[in-house]
Amino acid sequence: MPIHRRDTPTTARHTTREPGEREPPTSARDFLPARRTLPSLRRAAAECRGCPLWRNATQTVFGEGLAKARLMLVGEMPGDREDLAGRPFVGPAGKLLDDALEAAGIERGDVYVTNVVKHFKWVPRGKRRLHRTPDVAEIRACLPWLEAEIDVVKPYALVCLGATAAKALLGPGFRVLRDRGRFVDSPLAPRVSATVHPSALLRMRDRNERDEALERLITDLAAVKAELDKSA
Ligand code: SF4
Repeated sequence: MPIHRRDTPTTARHTTREPGEREPPTSARDFLPARRTLPSLRRAAAECRGCPLWRNATQTVFGEGLAKARLMLVGEMPGDREDLAGRPFVGPAGKLLDDALEAAGIERGDVYVTNVVKHFKWVPRGKRRLHRTPDVAEIRACLPWLEAEIDVVKPYALVCLGATAAKALLGPGFRVLRDRGRFVDSPLAPRVSATVHPSALLRMRDRNERDEALERLITDLAAVKAELDKSA
């Protein structure tokens, strides 16, 4: 699979195991089912212990959408609301994404939405759970799920939402603010691009700045819609 990754995780190995004792899992790869469909992958991912993130999360948040979706959107990881609901993009960022998709002429029901990392990473701040960006080892450990989702769905267009997804899938040299909106050669899908994550807009305090950012997000998605229409 052509995702930008190293196959061998760099997690330190323990040396105190008894002879014959199995190594602890260091990647989602150890949990992949033999027969891969979206339902079987979803069931298997619910039991994933491929990295430590499952310990503090409510549940695995697997991707959602039609197995034949022509557009796949890939974000970073589930947030607080998604962790509780067990569904991707259902919080405030998801609502903003829905609005942007609608403005771009894309039906959310036609899109498969998922994340690079399937468990919520957070730290407590009073009563709140604050998002923490997943590190390289966690991203690497979780990528087998996304690889499997792409293999099953085979989207015509794939859009990375935000820097974490873009760097994981398109390489560390990819800069979302510089390279957003343009289609790049990638074995992931016939049309691959990246744009900002909608949560970045929610962090903008200035109304004009936020409106402008929303317009740019819609423009990036509309370009994808045009490609989908051309290929239909
Ligand atoms: S974040 Fe990914 S690799 Fe880590 S436990 Fe969750 S599903 Fe498995």
